[in-house]
Amino acid sequence: MVENLRLKGITDERVLDAMNKVPRHLFLDTTLDLLAYEDQALPILCEQTISMPSTVAFQSQLLNVQPRMKVLEIGTGSGYQTAILCTLGARVFSIERQKGLFSRTKSKLESLSYRAKCFLGDGYQGLTEIHEHPFDRIIITCGARMIPQPLFDQLKEGGIMVIPVGNNEQEMLRVTKVEGKAQIEQFGHCRFVPMLEGRQF
Ligand code: SAH
Repeated sequence: MVENLRLKGITDERVLDAMNKVPRHLFLDTTLDLLAYEDQALPILCEQTISMPSTVAFQSQLLNVQPRMKVLEIGTGSGYQTAILCTLGARVFSIERQKGLFSRTKSKLESLSYRAKCFLGDGYQGLTEIHEHPFDRIIITCGARMIPQPLFDQLKEGGIMVIPVGNNEQEMLRVTKVEGKAQIEQFGHCRFVPMLEGRQF
């Protein structure tokens, strides 16, 4: 898988190493074992998808995570991206809006000893536990209609947010907070499941 990621332009050795270490098949239904290491998005619970490995690696590379950084992830899903962030040494806070996925994935991450803190909630609001703010990095793994203001507010000065923005198709954006303002860079088209408003009980 790592060789394929290099061919697709992933150059960050720490990201490649993390991708090599985290067994993706453990985050999928066993019937999908044979496809786990192909560069494909695959179905998970609640009609959601686990992102393609190259997308996970690309977002992780743009995020430029350093050990001990506080990272907020929106869209826990299968927990695969969460595990990559933990392996990069981040202190991860992850929000999922679907109860079924939240409970399953929280236990899965615990059973595999990934120390992320999982929350059930609406990612558009960010983390309601304000004592955990601000974050060095924020990663959104679903397609957002716009850059949610509460998430930008929860980003540290100099911090980076990686977010796919758009409706049916999205543009991958890297947003850096400089003197309180958003500096935006674009990194091409991508396709994610939509970021929906409100949480599911
Ligand atoms: N990072 C995940 C990607 C899962 S797909 C993985 O590697 O498997 C995106 C996830 O975002 C879905 O689980 C979906 O339920 C969740 N999601 C969508 N809108 C959300 C919101 N407003 N807040 C939190 N999670 C959301």
